[in-house]
Amino acid sequence: MYYNENTIVYYNGSFIKASEARGNVYDQTLHYGYGVFEGIRSYATESGVQIFKAKEHFERMKYSCEVMNIPYPYNNDELVAISYEVLKRNNLENAYLRPLVSCTPNMSLTKAKGSHLLIAAWEWGAYLGETLLRLKTSPFRRITPASFMVAAKVCGHYVNSILATQEAKDNGFDEALLLDMEGFVAEGPGANIFLEQDNILYTPQLGSILPGITRATVLEICNDLGIEAIEKQISPEEFKGADSAFFCGTAAEVIGIESLDSIPFKKNWKDSLGFLIQKAYKDRVLVKKFKQEVVSV
Ligand code: PMP
Repeated sequence: MYYNENTIVYYNGSFIKASEARGNVYDQTLHYGYGVFEGIRSYATESGVQIFKAKEHFERMKYSCEVMNIPYPYNNDELVAISYEVLKRNNLENAYLRPLVSCTPNMSLTKAKGSHLLIAAWEWGAYLGETLLRLKTSPFRRITPASFMVAAKVCGHYVNSILATQEAKDNGFDEALLLDMEGFVAEGPGANIFLEQDNILYTPQLGSILPGITRATVLEICNDLGIEAIEKQISPEEFKGADSAFFCGTAAEVIGIESLDSIPFKKNWKDSLGFLIQKAYKDRVLVKKFKQEVVSV
């Protein structure tokens, strides 16, 4: 459960009970999906609770509002401090934070007239579980930059993600893989994707995907570990022939993929580069001293 009768959220300038936070039935976001949000994780580390890349997430939220013409009268340093306070007031350590900027009443399709800011938090385990995932190529294509602000984390975009996840699960798979409008691999409904081929990692270039903060962290880790990582267009055939693959995202963290459309990847997960990245990511979020691993390429 995401909340109970004692849950405290930050809403429009104050810390209040979640059960007492009120929206308006004419809020533009409710009707049209015109709002933006973030998903952030905090971890109990040796030096206390740390929100991983909090600043980067709020910077993306600001960007999302700017490109969507949603007022953003907030200071990101303050929002980081408020986020820590939300965790403290709810006695949370390993948690997921959900900032949401929603729009005030407006039944027209014009620019938002004002915004509400919510920061909620709850305890959330591994979003996609801990076991390797069986993916299905979705019949739904990822939203296109020809129609949407793909690099913004907009509420309405997630109807595309919901359709894809539900269709994959209805067919007995764990999660969907969405292709872009040109038929290249894009991303999961809530995570970016990497594949390994001949000791090199590949990931779809920016354009039709959300520029994930975890994706950027994985690229940093590759740089630190001396793993070659290349951003490029990837065809579904290339993907299916890969040695291994993994999803990465704030909620999903780094999670291995067993198969795509029931075709298993060749490498044992524990022998894959993804497994090394998964360990290095855990160390990073837990602020453990970064372990330099020797990787033969
Ligand atoms: N793609 C989509 C569609 C997502 O919803 C997410 C989760 N925010 C990601 C990728 C991963 O982004 P991040 O690493 O910033 O959480």
